[in-house]
Amino acid sequence: MPGINEEKEAMRAAVTRGVGEKFEISEVTIAEPMDHEVLVDIRASGLCHSDITVAEQGMGVPMPVVLGHEIAGVVTAVGSAVSRIRVGDHVVAAALQPCGQCRACLKGRLWACSKPGALDRDPGAAPRLRDGKGALGQLQGLGGFAEQALIHENQLVAIDPAMPFEQASLIGCAVASGAGSVFNVARVQPGQSVAVFGCGGVGLNAIQAAVLAGATSVIGVDIQPEKLGLAKKFGATEVVDSSQVDVVQAIGELTESEGVDHAFVMVGVPAVAESALGVLGHDGTVYLIGGMSPGTELTLRPSPGDSLLLPYQQGVRGSWLGSSNFYNDIPLYVDLYLKGRLNLDDLVSNTIALDEINEAYEALEGGGVARSVITFPAPS
Ligand SMILES: [Zn+2]
Ligand SMILES: [Zn+2]
Repeated sequence: MPGINEEKEAMRAAVTRGVGEKFEISEVTIAEPMDHEVLVDIRASGLCHSDITVAEQGMGVPMPVVLGHEIAGVVTAVGSAVSRIRVGDHVVAAALQPCGQCRACLKGRLWACSKPGALDRDPGAAPRLRDGKGALGQLQGLGGFAEQALIHENQLVAIDPAMPFEQASLIGCAVASGAGSVFNVARVQPGQSVAVFGCGGVGLNAIQAAVLAGATSVIGVDIQPEKLGLAKKFGATEVVDSSQVDVVQAIGELTESEGVDHAFVMVGVPAVAESALGVLGHDGTVYLIGGMSPGTELTLRPSPGDSLLLPYQQGVRGSWLGSSNFYNDIPLYVDLYLKGRLNLDDLVSNTIALDEINEAYEALEGGGVARSVITFPAPS
């Protein structure tokens, strides 16, 4: 074993140096794990839309930074205090940083941890990542667009090694956010109706989770025919191309004017969230899941004639990583996949090399792609 936190390894990472800049493939030095840290050899890393939102808009994230938060890999070293994870474990990372000790964490409400930053290194300690120009941050303590990541054990879950890495990587965000919103936040009941606005990686998981929960009407809404085709493949009972028709009117007709019980908004566009309000029935709720830029304003018109928010007792809720207690939920989604009940294969549109990250994000923004996944060959 190398000396304590002194000898470090070099690896390649896609670094985001500033807002609006392209990903830059750089040689990065990664520290040896100390205390509760785990060194992960990344095998697959999903390209979530929220990473490109951070790269393009900043969203308050300090830079330079290594983005990437959908990670699956193999543990190669652990710090002296690590107890839950072992060398050789296959792991999935979660984009939450639960301290494990506050009241929220003890109740399993990991998304509500009251001690943000508790898992970071002491500010006086050497940085986990650095390159020739200085220290690099890790988005949400992860930094998945890299060959290796140094992650606090609280953010990792060991999984069944039968699970393929590409599919496993998507569980940490796309599946947790989409399916978790349906199971944990909305708690969709058999016989209910659901509309999903935005049928990308997160939306497709909301659709298949709604089917698993017993929803009888599952309506996928998008502006891209490829994604509407995928929505049907994942179990949507109807699809609406909102570039062609008035979505409020179309869903009104599909539900015989009853509206839906739950509307999930996966895109951070205010007009889409507002039209989701227009498709709700009595006691219906809109769930906001896609990240919105700071300062975004939504217009709520609570009176009859404008909307039925008040007399119909409708609501608007946020959903953060699907209210996931990921220690429970990640193994659950792995189990559902291995038993053929969760489709993650069709979620992986294509696999790419780390060097292709800029082009892959352009393709994602161009549409038609559920998820691209960076893969790294296993060391020989
Ligand atoms: Zn994500
Ligand atoms: Zn906590």
